[in-house]
Amino acid sequence: MEVAAKLSILADAAKYDASCSSSGAKGRRGGAKGLGSTEGTGICHSYTPDGRCVSLLKVLLTNYCIYDCQYCINRRSSDVRRARFKVDELVALVLDFYRRNYIEGLFLSSGIIRTPDYTMEQLIAVAKTLRREHGFAGYIHLKTIPDASPELLDEAGRWADRLSINVELPTQENLDRLAPEKQLVQITGAMGRMKERIAEAKADAAPRRTLPRFAPAGQSTQMIVGATEATDTTILHTASELYRGPELRRVYYSGFSPIPDAAAGLPLIATPLVREHRLYQADWLMRFYGFEARELTTPKAPNLDLGLDPKTSWALRNRERFPVDLNLADREELLRIPGLGTRNVKRILAARRWHRIRLADLARMRVPLKRALPFIITDDHRPRLLNPDALDLRDRIAPKGSQTDLFETAFAALHGEL
Ligand code: SF4
Repeated sequence: MEVAAKLSILADAAKYDASCSSSGAKGRRGGAKGLGSTEGTGICHSYTPDGRCVSLLKVLLTNYCIYDCQYCINRRSSDVRRARFKVDELVALVLDFYRRNYIEGLFLSSGIIRTPDYTMEQLIAVAKTLRREHGFAGYIHLKTIPDASPELLDEAGRWADRLSINVELPTQENLDRLAPEKQLVQITGAMGRMKERIAEAKADAAPRRTLPRFAPAGQSTQMIVGATEATDTTILHTASELYRGPELRRVYYSGFSPIPDAAAGLPLIATPLVREHRLYQADWLMRFYGFEARELTTPKAPNLDLGLDPKTSWALRNRERFPVDLNLADREELLRIPGLGTRNVKRILAARRWHRIRLADLARMRVPLKRALPFIITDDHRPRLLNPDALDLRDRIAPKGSQTDLFETAFAALHGEL
C-alpha cells in the first residue's frame, strides 16, 4: 500500500483521540545541527468535522488492534480498512511535512499489535529515530500502553515531550463492560510511575536549569463521555483523582460519537457537545479556581447543568455566600464569583491598592456584568434589585442561546476567565 493511502487511513483513525495538545512544552530547540523547536507558535492544529481541534499530523502507527474495546472504531471486531506504517516511512513523512512547514510536531498513537511491549517498541523507535538520527526537536506526544513493561515506558519519556495513557472510561465497572482487557489499576499504576520519573527528571534538571529529559510537558489522558451512563459526578471525581494522584497535566473529555458498525449497547446518538464543554469548564474550576469535584454537582443533580456554566450553578446553590464585597474579599472568595476570572481577580486585587472598586472599573475589565452583578457589592452597587435570593435569578442570568454561551465561554476560557 502507498504511504499516502496509509496516511489517509491512519490519520482518519486517529481523529477520535482528543488527548493531544501542544501546551506546556518549552525549551527544546534543535540548534544549529538539529531541526525544529517546541517554542514559538506550537503545533499546527486542524478541526475535524465534529468541531474538535486536532493536530495536523496526528496519526496512528497502525489501526490493527488485538483488543476489542467496544467504543473504538479500530477494535479487533471492527470491519475497517487497516494499514500500518513502517517506522522509517513514518519518520520520513514527519521530516518531510516538517520541512514543508505543514506541521510542527507529531502526535503518535497506535492500535496494539502482537503484544503491548512490541507496539511500545515501535512507537519508541519512531520518536528515537527522529530525535537521534535527525536531530528533530519538534514537539512529540507519544501515546503509551499501560500493559507495556515499565522499562519501555521509561524509555518513551526520554524521547517524547508529552506522554499519555488513555483512561477511556471513569470506572472499572465501565471498562469491564466495554473494554474488558483494560484495568484501571494498571493504567493509574503506569501513570504513577511516570509521575515519579517526571519528578526525578525535574529535580535533576533544576540545579542546572536545563530542560528535564523525561516528558517535560508531563502526561495527559482522555475520558470518553456518554458511552456509558456514568454521570458527571463520577467523571469529575475520577479526573480530580488523576490530577491529585499521578498529577496529570490535562484530562481531555471526548464526547462519544456513534461509530460505524457499533457494538450493541452503545448509544445511537452523539453526546451533546455542550456536555463536553461543561466538563471542560468544571475541570478548569478544579484546576485554577480552587473548586473540589464534590462542589460541582449534587446527589440530586449528578450531571452538570447544560444551560448554565458550572460556577454560576454553584453560586445559585450557595446563595448564602453572596453578595461578596469586591473591596474586602480575599482572592479565594473573588474567584468564586460568577463572571470573575483569574485575570480579572488579579486586576481587582491590584486596583484595590490604589482606589475602591466601582462598576466602571469592572466595565473597563470587561467583566460580564449581567452574570456578576447579582453576586457582588462595589462602592456604587448593592444587589437590591438583583437580590441573589430571587427565585427567577437563574432565568435572568442564564444565556438565552447555547451557541452564544459556547462562543462567549470558549473566548473566556482562552483568557482564563469563568
Ligand atoms: S486498545 Fe486502543 S486501539 Fe485497540 S481497541 Fe482499545 S481503544 Fe481501540
